Amino acid sequence: MNDPAAPEDRAAQLAANLSRVEERIAAACAASGRDREDVTLIVVTKTHPAHDVRLLAGLGVREVAENRDQDAARKAAECADLPLRWHFVGQLQTNKARSVVRYADHVHSVDRPRLVDALSTAATAAGRQLGCLVQVALDAGSGARGERGGVAPDAVGALADAVAAAEGLRLDGLMTVAPLSGAYAGQPRAAFDRLVEISSRLRETHPAANMVSAGMSQDLDEAVAAGATHVRVGTAVLGVRPRLR
Ligand SMILES: *Cc1c(COP(=O)(O)O)cnc(C)c1O
Repeated sequence: MNDPAAPEDRAAQLAANLSRVEERIAAACAASGRDREDVTLIVVTKTHPAHDVRLLAGLGVREVAENRDQDAARKAAECADLPLRWHFVGQLQTNKARSVVRYADHVHSVDRPRLVDALSTAATAAGRQLGCLVQVALDAGSGARGERGGVAPDAVGALADAVAAAEGLRLDGLMTVAPLSGAYAGQPRAAFDRLVEISSRLRETHPAANMVSAGMSQDLDEAVAAGATHVRVGTAVLGVRPRLR
């Protein structure tokens, strides 16, 4: 998977990896009685070149994600001719909001009021509507933020209300990363069940906020079983990342 491959080999490798991921999603859907169409695969292309994004688009991928604005902005520009939707999934500084709203359709990592304000200002100025997911840190205690971003479960409601009220933003749902520490460490299914529970409560007041973004290469099966609507898969499609971030 790490060997530099000739272009045609790379396309074949991506196609094979994609079909294995597709099989996993389909199997997890079947096992839990869900329709395959209820789960969207987002391919996380961070650290991989724009050429890979182009190959993926040729293989039918329509949703891609990045976690650093500088790389994402460049790749989105290089791939502007492709029918792709860009998701931003990384921790986001407020001074990057103006850039992100130019190419991103969704930001999955909204985790503080200042970021809501910055995204709202930027989206309004750009004349765009940006889909926002509140990132939930299941390992964060009340009042704290997660080590990898996100708000504690008890702060989700207020932040979601702020997104829903903000001009230029649309509240689309919730995102999480399975915690590496705390009560949910090594228990992705329990973590995703908890996220789905928080999502159900959120939808009592925001019925349209029905995206549940959960599951990566290691744990997408558990995420689908728990009810995720969007899985974010990098390594299992693209191979081990060239640079660790
Ligand atoms: C990198 C990343 C992913 C994909 O992780 P893999 O383990 O490579 O599938 C998913 N979500 C977020 C937020 C990420 O940063």
